[in-house]
Amino acid sequence: MKVDECRVCQSHRLDLVLDLGRTALANRFLRPEQLSEPEPTFPLRIILCGDCGLVQLDEEVPREILFKEYLYASGTSSLVRKHARWLGASLGRRYSLGAQDLVMEAASNDGTVLKEFRWQGMPVLGIEPAKNIAAGAIERGIPTIVDFFDDRLARALREQYGPARLFLARHVLAHVADLHGFVRGIKHVLAEDGVAAIEVPHVAELFRHLEFDTIYHEHLCYFSAAVLQTLFHQFGLSIIDVDRVPIHGGSLLVHVGHEGVHPVSPRLVEVLSQEDNLQLDQIETWRSFARRVAHVKE
Ligand SMILES: [Zn+2]
Repeated sequence: MKVDECRVCQSHRLDLVLDLGRTALANRFLRPEQLSEPEPTFPLRIILCGDCGLVQLDEEVPREILFKEYLYASGTSSLVRKHARWLGASLGRRYSLGAQDLVMEAASNDGTVLKEFRWQGMPVLGIEPAKNIAAGAIERGIPTIVDFFDDRLARALREQYGPARLFLARHVLAHVADLHGFVRGIKHVLAEDGVAAIEVPHVAELFRHLEFDTIYHEHLCYFSAAVLQTLFHQFGLSIIDVDRVPIHGGSLLVHVGHEGVHPVSPRLVEVLSQEDNLQLDQIETWRSFARRVAHVKE
């Protein structure tokens, strides 16, 4: 499905900046009997929003094709397991989480991250749309709802389980077509003093290190802190802190709370000013990126 409005600000000022052609979907190894079948390919093109500066794909592969049966399991990566331990320890301490504080995670995968909170005594709840992956988490004792997280589900979860003191969303926001529904869901489910910790690959690193191999059909959006701030503000949420994490080519762990509840860290100002220096919202910046990609291709 072709996209004609920006996923964050709904602007129609969208300019093509990089065309990677039609490519097959990732994470999809073929079985011997599939080798003679035609493999579907989909366009892979990057556009820039002239209003909010969001870098995004202009085409969507239906999420039922992408995520219902999923092959990527977090627990198979020792780097992700190590990162999960750091998240459990540092977030637990930073927000003084205890046995009364529900930790909820969207796209909780096989429960690798939630496990780090459960052993500290906090109640946990995972939400994971891939049946095969969720089954593994449930087997390991992590309660998991098999569904996509959105506004509708968030209301039902709050009703049944109460508000989340910590809401985690690691490397899922880039996969979400209905960003507004997802963020509205966070607004609903988050306790008054709660924090959402959202991890995304940082578009500044994609640009600086020419990480065009991280552009694929599952990642609809490539976020900067500035664009995320625009997104959250629309729903009465704001970024209160940001950590740089070395995972997935350089990511941001963005801490988000209800507007006006938490103090804002100077680290946010620092990241915003770095992004500003790189001019990540300018078309000429991304045209130069496309020229560098073409050079590598040649
Ligand atoms: Zn926009």
